[in-house]
Amino acid sequence: MPLELGQDYKIINTLIKKIMNIRNFFILIIVIAALTSWHCSSLKKINLFSIEDDKALGLQVSNEIQTASSEYPLLLESGNQEVYTYIRNITNNILNSGNVKHKDDFAWQVKIIDDPETLNAFATPGGYIYVYTGLIKFLDSEDELAGVMGHEIAHADLRHSTRQMTSSYGVSTLLAVATGNASDGAVQQVLSGITSLKFSRNHETEADTYSVNYLCNTKYDAAGAAGFFRKISGSSSTPQFLSTHPNPDNRVENIEKKAAAKTCSPSTTTVTEHNRIKQLLK
Ligand SMILES: [Zn+2]
Repeated sequence: MPLELGQDYKIINTLIKKIMNIRNFFILIIVIAALTSWHCSSLKKINLFSIEDDKALGLQVSNEIQTASSEYPLLLESGNQEVYTYIRNITNNILNSGNVKHKDDFAWQVKIIDDPETLNAFATPGGYIYVYTGLIKFLDSEDELAGVMGHEIAHADLRHSTRQMTSSYGVSTLLAVATGNASDGAVQQVLSGITSLKFSRNHETEADTYSVNYLCNTKYDAAGAAGFFRKISGSSSTPQFLSTHPNPDNRVENIEKKAAAKTCSPSTTTVTEHNRIKQLLK
């Protein structure tokens, strides 16, 4: 009997050790998976570009846009001062809201692209913002336009483009473009990458939230972007803006909820000025 008990003990002991090994193995797998996931999510949040790099890249891209007049026909400042003043005043009101982190770091230069058929706006790293005449004419109010400008300012201020582009093109290519040391091909590639960059839905939601935050302390309706997205979502074809700024679920409702949850000053704008500016573009 004692012999048999000893054998049983050995068998049980071996079994327990095996179970412990298997258990430890699974614990190890779980720990590795957790660490990998944490590492990847941390990497996604890290921006390898500096603020100066954002500014330099934006400047290079804006210089390229200036010379690529067939693709980006800029509305002349001469003869269109009122339109430029209108959109730059909106930008300055947002910048002076006290909520734009890189207000004093970035260029915040606004240019209008003379293309009445295109419903779009985009911002480069470093705060160079481009708005199409098609978008200004499409919108019904200054509040809606301010909502879109807030959204674009947020993409630049939160540095979404460089975060996404460093993973697409690599830091060395982007730095070469930023410092003027890249080939023409690389510059063109990065330029078209920036102007057609498709943001993630998370970045879209973040830009919507910041648009509300920026507009909250201005003369505009904090939910101005909701009016724009409600209108553009009803378009029969997919406007260019929505192909690069994909709609998160319940976007309009979420913007309105965020604005309602804050104590924001009500809009004091009228549509008269917006309609007058639209007439100037005809
Ligand atoms: Zn967007």
